[in-house]
Amino acid sequence: MTQPQSWEARADEYSLYGFTDLPSVQKRGAVVLTHGEGPYVVDVNGRRYLDANSGLWNMVAGFDHKGLAEAAKAQYDRFPGYHAFFGRMSDQTVMLSEKLVEVSPFARGKVFYTNSGSEANDTMVKMLWFLHASEGKPQRRKILTRWNAYHGVTAVSASMTGKPYNEVFGLPLPGFIHLTCPHFWRYGEAGETEEQFTARLARELEEVIQREGADTIAGFFAEPVQGAGGVIPPSAGYFQAVLPILKKYDIPMIADEVITGFGRTGHTWGNQTYDFVPDAIISSKNLTAGLFPMGAVILGPELADRVQAAVEKIEEFPHGFTASGHPVGCAIALKAIDVVMNEGLAQNVVDLAPRFEAGLKRLAQNPNIGEYRGVGFMWALEAVRDKASKTPFEGHLSVSERIANTCTDLGLICRPLGQSIVLCPPFILTEAQMDEMFDKLEQALTRVFAEVA
Ligand code: PMP
Repeated sequence: MTQPQSWEARADEYSLYGFTDLPSVQKRGAVVLTHGEGPYVVDVNGRRYLDANSGLWNMVAGFDHKGLAEAAKAQYDRFPGYHAFFGRMSDQTVMLSEKLVEVSPFARGKVFYTNSGSEANDTMVKMLWFLHASEGKPQRRKILTRWNAYHGVTAVSASMTGKPYNEVFGLPLPGFIHLTCPHFWRYGEAGETEEQFTARLARELEEVIQREGADTIAGFFAEPVQGAGGVIPPSAGYFQAVLPILKKYDIPMIADEVITGFGRTGHTWGNQTYDFVPDAIISSKNLTAGLFPMGAVILGPELADRVQAAVEKIEEFPHGFTASGHPVGCAIALKAIDVVMNEGLAQNVVDLAPRFEAGLKRLAQNPNIGEYRGVGFMWALEAVRDKASKTPFEGHLSVSERIANTCTDLGLICRPLGQSIVLCPPFILTEAQMDEMFDKLEQALTRVFAEVA
């Protein structure tokens, strides 16, 4: 076997790409990266890209934060790995759990660790099944989520995800029910106000609960802002409308804050930005500022007590991953929380969010931009063929992919999602870097809209 020549060809030869448009990458070649500088990443050819995606929403402190790397190195030197089984765990794990409860909206709570956001959602579902069975309601197994939600890729979290692409896996599994996505601009009906739209979605929730039977439902999961669905903030009053219904039927509400946690929306949690308190929080990504694969289930007081009682009954929670509560991951997470909250990163999101919105508002004057939406440092622009009727571009034109590819050529990484372009840069972004992001995006929009006119 002869060795293919270029990095791009080698990537193509030996790696199976996940979530990648294959014809496009085969035509353009993979971007193979060697290192990062602040919010920029650099490829094998020395080209620099401003990563307005923060990797995958997670590299919030950029790609060369010295303090985070030093915290990792120090912990690797001190105690490089351990588990959290058999009543043993590292001191870092103990400290991180305390910290997570302290920064959570909960007065008390309990934390369980995983390696990813998918596994954290999976773990939460298993915890709910375990809890309801222990309380004498084993039939409470159905999970409610929304269309366009993204909760992960394991068989359970992919079933929670509300995306048609999971059909190729024969998913969702039975018992995963998807409700209407709370995107008023796209799904509001003619003549309907945003408040009426929210009320309709709340009615739908109650009808589904009554149709299925409340005693068959294990829990309701929602991202405070749908992320990989294309950055969809909830319609006005959404969580205030659905929470009382869930409470009425004793259905736990789980906030999937894998993207929205630790400052992305301008508060520590998305649930603070949208003014509600869930029963549990799913965290990952920003938790370690992207430096270590880690997820966490953070139970609020009521669920913590109920799960604890269920565990006491059979004297064990038979679940856990080899690297659950890994000491290096926990040390990095402790440092990341400190860096984001106390070194001005979260504050920078708050300070620059108005400038972010103003930049998008200006770009959205383009007749082919139907809507801009978002909060904090997570935003999207949605491309349309016709603004007034909100008619999308024809699918075969792959407009958002073309815009993202043109941005890449210009040295800007942003993400096409459906017909939207998503921007979720690292929290360290400066005003000048934000201007660079908008300049490059504007050039790409102008070029691509002229091509598809
Ligand atoms: N939940 C949300 C809201 C996410 O955005 C993601 C990842 N994009 C996940 C869960 C899954 O996390 P992971 O990729 O770490 O499994």
